[in-house]
Amino acid sequence: MKLILAVFVLCVAVAGSTVAEGCDETVVIDSVEYNVGERWCGQRLDSTAVADPTTLVRIPEQFCFEQFRIYVRPVVRDAFVLMAEAAAADSVDLIADSGFRSATFQARIISRRMEEGDTFERLIRFVAPPGYSQHETGRALDLVPSEARFVYTPVYEWLKENAAEFGFVESLPEDTSGFAARESWHWYYLPEIVESNPSPATD
Ligand SMILES: [Zn+2]
Repeated sequence: MKLILAVFVLCVAVAGSTVAEGCDETVVIDSVEYNVGERWCGQRLDSTAVADPTTLVRIPEQFCFEQFRIYVRPVVRDAFVLMAEAAAADSVDLIADSGFRSATFQARIISRRMEEGDTFERLIRFVAPPGYSQHETGRALDLVPSEARFVYTPVYEWLKENAAEFGFVESLPEDTSGFAARESWHWYYLPEIVESNPSPATD
């Protein structure tokens, strides 16, 4: 079954990639096979990293943007609630607007954008190909405002200081090569990494 389980938007600003020669990783969308390109090559998620949607739990409404229904792994929900409560005590509001992303929903987004005339090569500068987004793992959360100015907010400031303590890492920070886009609003629950490298998000 090559038609992948999912397509996940990665809310990327700009990646500036082109389809690489020499990368043979492909995905199939609407029965057409596409090369994922250098931007994504080597980053396909291991199937064991992908969350089982039936095991996910909802982030409490008060921490969700406009009562969005946002789901993550139970352990991620618990860690996020603790972190959001700690932030609130510092007068900082941590509000999520995305967590686990449904395969079907995201596949439709890519498919629809291509129907509107966009090309796969252009889309994957902004959208993770099926099987490549951390949102598929149920460990990633996007926080409000999920856009470039997030990096200038007190929320970001607070997270840089405190998120590691709760097991969250800025997993898509500035990439000095200029190749991968930065997503300062995207936080990934990976306590193992945080423990082995206390300041992974420092740029
Ligand atoms: Zn994200």
